[in-house]
Amino acid sequence: MTFQWSALSSFSSPARASHVVLAASILGASMAASAAEEVNVYSARKEALIKPMLDRFTTDTGINVNLVTGSADALLRRLQVEGSASPADVFITVDAGRLYRAKKAGVLQPIQDAELESTIPANLKDSDDYWFGLSQRARVIFYNPKKVDASEFSTYEGLADAKWKGRICVRSSSNIYNQSLVASMIDADGKEATSKWLKGFVANFARPPFGGDTDLLKAVAAGVCDVTLANTYYFGRMGNSDKAKDQAVFNSLAIFWPNQAQGQRGAHVNVSGAGVTASAEHKENAVKLIRFLTSHEAQEWYAEVNNEYPVVKGIEPPKVLQNFGTFKADSLSLSVLGDNNRFAVELMDEAGWK
Ligand code: FE
Repeated sequence: MTFQWSALSSFSSPARASHVVLAASILGASMAASAAEEVNVYSARKEALIKPMLDRFTTDTGINVNLVTGSADALLRRLQVEGSASPADVFITVDAGRLYRAKKAGVLQPIQDAELESTIPANLKDSDDYWFGLSQRARVIFYNPKKVDASEFSTYEGLADAKWKGRICVRSSSNIYNQSLVASMIDADGKEATSKWLKGFVANFARPPFGGDTDLLKAVAAGVCDVTLANTYYFGRMGNSDKAKDQAVFNSLAIFWPNQAQGQRGAHVNVSGAGVTASAEHKENAVKLIRFLTSHEAQEWYAEVNNEYPVVKGIEPPKVLQNFGTFKADSLSLSVLGDNNRFAVELMDEAGWK
């Protein structure tokens, strides 16, 4: 308990205060009216990318939001350590693979809510309603158009072709984004074909895996390799950057949407998402917050500041992404990415993807 509360120093008005007020209200009914409504959020998204929207939620509803931010893995560990004593009501993180881990770790609870059911496309939420997608990103091909012609590409599967030998840069297989991509390929192509594909793909690496998506985009721009895989928001961020260096990288790269032909499944997409914690003391407020995050206004803002695609249909993506053109997204239920994760990790390991 000591650990729990000392670790929570960043909460401006700890949930505990409401217990005090609640106890007082038993003695004097008039106190109840002054009990501040609140909801406690653990977010793997940086404060600047979420706080203004949470403030808007407070303005609209009168519910105070106490925000703790941190890395996705650290916050999940914290939820596990705190267990049923966790003050968190909502957990926000990125990648369906991670949301699946949170579900499996028992730190989330299912929420059957008619509104969330109808607003969020079924494939972009957990099939058992433990988490809900809030924004979408695609993990696609980025290349140097001076070295590669777009006609050379077709599918993710095509990247195992020998013509790409020594021309592909990727980040480590420990990265959840790559694991989720491979998990989607296992669903589409089966384990055996994916295992074979991985061996060919790994044989095409220009150098051992390194860096994050941004480093890889820079490496392609610098001529270290011709092709990489990255999430769309990293590219969008560079396009929106006021740094000349980022602009130069952005302008020297091109995007290719894989698996777009008739009958093909579409580009691999993933989400950032949120779930109500198993320990939530403010469950109702937690659901209200997730509903708010899928409102038209919040979807537009959230997508804009994160350079992502909204999950709710009918809402325009941010300008910088509109420049990339439209694409067909794989409609695979993202719950499958979690189910297939361990097979993906196994096969990547076997193929020598470090
Ligand atoms: Fe990322």
